[in-house]
Amino acid sequence: MADTQRQELQSRLQQCLKELCLTAVREHVEHAALQAAQESLGYDRFLLDLLEKECELRHSRRLKRYLRASCLPLEKTIETFDLARLPPKVIQHVNLLRQGFFLDKKENVLAFGSPGTGKTHLLCAIAQELVKQGRRIWFSPCSLLVQKLLVAKRDLQLAQLLKKLQKFDAVLIDDIGYVQHNREEMEVLFTLLAERYEQGSVMITSNLAFSQWEKIFKDPMTTVAAIDRVVHHSVILELNITSYRMEQAQQRTGKTDVQVDQNVGVSQSALEDDEHV
Ligand code: ADP
Ligand code: MG
Repeated sequence: MADTQRQELQSRLQQCLKELCLTAVREHVEHAALQAAQESLGYDRFLLDLLEKECELRHSRRLKRYLRASCLPLEKTIETFDLARLPPKVIQHVNLLRQGFFLDKKENVLAFGSPGTGKTHLLCAIAQELVKQGRRIWFSPCSLLVQKLLVAKRDLQLAQLLKKLQKFDAVLIDDIGYVQHNREEMEVLFTLLAERYEQGSVMITSNLAFSQWEKIFKDPMTTVAAIDRVVHHSVILELNITSYRMEQAQQRTGKTDVQVDQNVGVSQSALEDDEHV
């Protein structure tokens, strides 16, 4: 083939690949063609190698997109989480949750415990692992979620927002009950939980035991209905351990009776007295 013909062929090929957005094929086609000639590879092998590169690229781009869309705090990973601090039963659950089957079964995950015990870090870390496996999870602090739902309701967009959330395998609601909500706020939260029931998972962290969820949902009927839906298919992680921050502070000061920890705002004895699930 003459050089000019070859050049024209190359340029048409590049154009087609550009139009079809086959970025990886475009990048590797020349090298792959040379290699195929050198190693006498058949057409199918040549094509397969190229298309596999395209699939790899698309897969990694998709995961990046999912991670960005997850709104997860990416520094909270399983690698930076000391699993050995957890009770053995919780470790067993965590190992299963990391496989992601609970998402297929639309099961929920509830993490309870005092402030600083690692509930947020743990669920975010599990969620991040699952997103990296191709699952879709969306994280939101409960108070922000409630505001988002309220704005959507005001704009008559609540149904659309709930539908949008349905594309996620799980919605991770962080710190449910941390801020006391008024009736309208809790109503939209209840609507979300009811909407997701058996349709998609929710992952929830809370400092409040179920016995105190009436503080969130205000009236007993709604509280029972919310707990019923959330608990029906669920894995409950009880982190009855001391605060990580408190433990770190104790290690730094070498004391065992730390009363400080401004972030936590409670003393060691108060933590021990606290009633949890
Ligand atoms: P909670 O949500 O229970 O209040 P967090 O998950 O916010 O607690 O944890 C408080 C801080 O302690 C965070 O900075 C978190 O990264 C850290 N932390 C908690 N538990 C662990 C752990 N087991 N290993 C490593 N860091 C931890
Ligand atoms: Mg938290």
